[in-house]
Amino acid sequence: LSERLSGVFDRLTKQGALSEDDVKTALREVRVALLEADVSLPVARDFVKAVQEKATGQAVTKSITPGQQVVKIVNDALVETLSGEGEPGALKIDNPPAPILMVGLQGSGKTTTTAKLAKRLTERDGKRVLMASLDVNRPAAMEQLQILGKQIGVDTLPIVKGEDPVQIAKRAKTQASLGGYDVYMLDTAGRLHIDEELIAQAAAVRDVANPRETLLVVDGLTGQDAVNVATEFDDKIGVTGVVLTRMDGDGRGGAALSMRAVTGKPIKFVGLGEKMDALETFEPERIAGRILGMGDIVSLVEKAQQTIEAEQAERMMKRFQKGQFNMNDLKMQLEQMQKMGGMEGVMGMMPGMGKMAKQVQDAGFDDKILSRQIALIQSMTKKERANPQILQASRKKRIAKGAGLEVQELNRLLKMQRQMGDMMKKMGKMGKGGMLKQAMK
Ligand code: GDP
Ligand code: MG
Repeated sequence: LSERLSGVFDRLTKQGALSEDDVKTALREVRVALLEADVSLPVARDFVKAVQEKATGQAVTKSITPGQQVVKIVNDALVETLSGEGEPGALKIDNPPAPILMVGLQGSGKTTTTAKLAKRLTERDGKRVLMASLDVNRPAAMEQLQILGKQIGVDTLPIVKGEDPVQIAKRAKTQASLGGYDVYMLDTAGRLHIDEELIAQAAAVRDVANPRETLLVVDGLTGQDAVNVATEFDDKIGVTGVVLTRMDGDGRGGAALSMRAVTGKPIKFVGLGEKMDALETFEPERIAGRILGMGDIVSLVEKAQQTIEAEQAERMMKRFQKGQFNMNDLKMQLEQMQKMGGMEGVMGMMPGMGKMAKQVQDAGFDDKILSRQIALIQSMTKKERANPQILQASRKKRIAKGAGLEVQELNRLLKMQRQMGDMMKKMGKMGKGGMLKQAMK
């Protein structure tokens, strides 16, 4: 995959903005690469389309080739798709005893993952965990969990022959309450394929246990199949999270992407081996790197971007000291603020700006205003941005209209630019920019 991609990307070496052709050429290969990584066809197609729209026209960072830039954009989009909301690996297990239901096909790694997770909850989170095997299909399955429990020092529900899964689930619940456990885990039986009996059994258990988390365990090596399994389980049983096992194998992890894209369920953990501590919180960046296989390029682009940003800041500072502060500068500041979590955060950090931050806030400044102001600046011509004082009333109206806003808002923006310019100049004079430099670090 890496070779294939570098081949294509080496051919794209023009500088400037990414043309539609650049992006298309690169993404044709990305699409093939995704398919080779076992991403399902519709997911790969949608993903590539979304990236294409995002990438076309984007500026290419200095010292970086368009191909490298596309890699970074693809990587970021992968990470975004792979990330679920909330903290990775977090489980809803307050209100003891919290039931966790483990479901999945036979051999996917349910029993192993049950024990691994029980160990993690015990050791990392200080929880008291009870594990119960509901696998009445295979004679040795219950003993398997019991042995693992002994090995990791986690209690298992005593085995009673002849019970059905629902009876075992009920007993686990009672035992967990009486025994003062924080969590009880129900390890269900799997089948080689999804069938009605399997689903009916899991549903019956779900109905008596009312699980806080229902974790679907899937073999990360099974690729597209994994997605069908996930969809089916989610439709019939309701899944709150996914655990991808066998990610220690040489699969590319494409299943992770399909899984996220199709089911929208968060991937919470990955299994990285047969040992009891081979369970890790799912990290989107890591899997993205694996699917794409171009981690070096990604960090190269990140470094180049950081360098450029530092250079820009330096250049800007020099201009501010000379009293130059135009709409381009303001736009850059506004964008920076957006990145850093809004006006309040940024200004609060700058010495002498606390008061202004408060004024700005009192004037009803919120972060939506940032994007509106950026839109206003974007509606200006190049000349106007460099020299906003040339704006006449009629142009102001047009610009405001272009951004879908009132003229007053543009006037406020102009005032802000003047005030900030004055302030930058003053700060620049004080100690030859020492203060400003300090503030911008
Ligand atoms: P179940 O039928 O779903 O309960 O699957 P098991 O937990 O019994 O696991 C089946 C086999 O897969 C066992 O030999 C496990 O040791 C192995 N296994 C489970 N998870 C992983 C993993 O993350 N990596 C590797 N390499 N093997 C795993
Ligand atoms: Mg099992």
